[in-house]
Amino acid sequence: MIVESPDCSAGLLGGCRVGILVHACPSLIPYSCGRHTGLIELGNPLLIFVSCWGSKTDNSAMENCRVRIAVRGTALAALLAGACSLSAAPAPNWPAAVAHAARLAPEARIVVLDVATGKLLAANHLADAARTLAAPGSALKPLVLYGLTAAGRWDPSRRIACTRKLAIAGHALDCSHPLADPMEARQALGWSCNTYFAALAATLKPGELRGLLAPTGLLGQTGLAAGEATAEAVADWGEPHSAGKNSLAVLGVEGIRVTPLELAAAYRWLALQLAAHPSTVAALTVRGGLADSASFGMAEAAGMGGVPVAGKTGTASLAAGSQTHGWFAGLAPADAPSVVVAVYLPAGHGADAARVAAELLARSPLRKPRP
Ligand SMILES: [Zn+2]
Repeated sequence: MIVESPDCSAGLLGGCRVGILVHACPSLIPYSCGRHTGLIELGNPLLIFVSCWGSKTDNSAMENCRVRIAVRGTALAALLAGACSLSAAPAPNWPAAVAHAARLAPEARIVVLDVATGKLLAANHLADAARTLAAPGSALKPLVLYGLTAAGRWDPSRRIACTRKLAIAGHALDCSHPLADPMEARQALGWSCNTYFAALAATLKPGELRGLLAPTGLLGQTGLAAGEATAEAVADWGEPHSAGKNSLAVLGVEGIRVTPLELAAAYRWLALQLAAHPSTVAALTVRGGLADSASFGMAEAAGMGGVPVAGKTGTASLAAGSQTHGWFAGLAPADAPSVVVAVYLPAGHGADAARVAAELLARSPLRKPRP
């Protein structure tokens, strides 16, 4: 690909500078310019500057030239000719961001909700997101922790030791976090400690878990799929009648199956609670744990899209030993959430779903332009 400069008078370090309208290019692309070589430099998302870096002594000669810039290699040429369209980039928007993420994970059910209005901003496989029922795994933990702590039923400063080994009623539920000192609630949420939440579940009274979850919207129709040619499923819920069943329910393993739409609606409820009661110990604990999770904990991948996010992963399966599915549910931006992002992967792990969320957020309106 040859790009010709109409003007070599605009110098950079005594050389030539050529503006080329492109978008979404990698930041640096090597090129040759006569006897000069250098890098095409990304100026902003809409404009790159091609600079022929020469010495001051080359300046006069270069001012009179018509610079011919040959991008070496077919791969680089294709990059500029194809991936870098000569048209201006559209403004980031949620449907385009979801479409981008869906190209990377075609099977992903993705839901983006506006926190303030509850409006559905964008979705992938919306009909499936409305009727796919799956165990939520650890994505349930923030909702239970918030409800119990807000009700004064659980002291989040209580520390619980974890050996990372846990088995309940035939389910192997070993923790995957690093070895750690006894954890309090924020740490336990950030690291998704099953031992901690099993201990919390052991304090539940009959009917209490349903009472905690019902206000979140997790167990009922959301109405978000209205107009879709499908009936929205209602969460599959079985009241636990033993300590072991309580633990399995709190860990999102057994006795509860929800749709991606229901999980998204419940996280919106959580976002509204955190905003309405920002200084309570329940809000501080859960907000901190979700931010930690997406910063360095189990949902770390979600934070790699360049948008601060607070969220939680979940991994579960239909039956012990069968193929797992993965969840991510998060609030972005982390400090003042305006959207809920929920991702469900029919096959995979929570970390995989978090990566899909990162790809989505990287193309979203929340992503700040590069300086
Ligand atoms: Zn643990």
